[in-house]
Amino acid sequence: MARIAFIGLGNMGGGMAANLAKAGHEVIAFDLSEAALARAESRGCKRAGSADEAVAKAEAVVTMLPACSHVREVYGASIIGKAPKGAILMDCSTIDVATARETIEKAAAAGQEMVDAPVSGGIAAAEGGTLTFMVGGTKAALERARPFLEAMGKAVIHAGDAGAGQAAKICNNMLLGATMIATCETFALAKKLGLDLQTFYDISSKASGQSWSMTSYCPVPGVGPETPADRDYEGGFAAALMLKDLRLAMEAARAADAYTPMGSEAEELYTRFAEALGGGGKDFSAIIKMIDDSWTPPEGTRPPAPPPGVKL
Ligand code: NAD
Repeated sequence: MARIAFIGLGNMGGGMAANLAKAGHEVIAFDLSEAALARAESRGCKRAGSADEAVAKAEAVVTMLPACSHVREVYGASIIGKAPKGAILMDCSTIDVATARETIEKAAAAGQEMVDAPVSGGIAAAEGGTLTFMVGGTKAALERARPFLEAMGKAVIHAGDAGAGQAAKICNNMLLGATMIATCETFALAKKLGLDLQTFYDISSKASGQSWSMTSYCPVPGVGPETPADRDYEGGFAAALMLKDLRLAMEAARAADAYTPMGSEAEELYTRFAEALGGGGKDFSAIIKMIDDSWTPPEGTRPPAPPPGVKL
């Protein structure tokens, strides 16, 4: 069993670190939040007073941080050149492709092996150890990371070289954001055309319009399997996080000179819903309420003028 430094014990990292401890590893945990640290300690991890202290004698390092600036800061100040050379470094945060590549290159220059390993699956999958990891880096680094990732997930897939894990993650989520919006507007139209929505679901879920957004995550309450729509869009994958991923996808599209009109429209609509209309804390399928005009912005939110053709 290995000594693992785990940095970033939030919604996702808390469960992931607990699963590593459950698998018998010695997990040395660090987070800026005292509450997160105390929770990790109660779940079998040992607390460190700083990131430097956590990584000092680590054989493996896992980070699960909010965004790219945190990853740059933590790797720059406390991991690269500070963790033992033999330790395998795994960043599981969702960040931009360029930062992932740069960080892995810097680690390599300091003689350290690192992979980007963002995840698919939300808080429940982090708790249950059923995440899917999309891994970027060399085959050798992947094989060193694999046993640790397998203790936290149900699938570990090699996406390609450094940064490829992040590339796969944002491409997948761009597709998810766009298909969710398409699913929402389709149900809104079906309703206006007088269709019974369960009947339309029964037809479309077995026809060519079928998608994961429709059959596993239907945005209409009471239609299809149980989803966040049946819990007033609480829990699930927050619209603010979908917006974060769409912004990363659009940044990557600009850098790669790729034409992504649907992704760009999805980014605009989620910006409107999550930020201007205050829906960021709701599950991302709640955007149907903006589309079918049933969304009431929370108190204190001042809705902007709708763009031409959009009725709000
Ligand atoms: P979170 O905000 O709940 O947790 C992040 C943790 O990092 C916090 O506890 C914070 O205190 C800690 N942190 C920040 N800066 C730090 C520093 N310098 N040193 C030590 N700790 C620091 O976020 P989360 O929901 O756990 O998400 C983590 C990552 O996973 C994000 O990149 C997110 O996009 C991605 N992700 C989240 C979900 C989800 O459903 N929540 C799903 C897939 C991927």
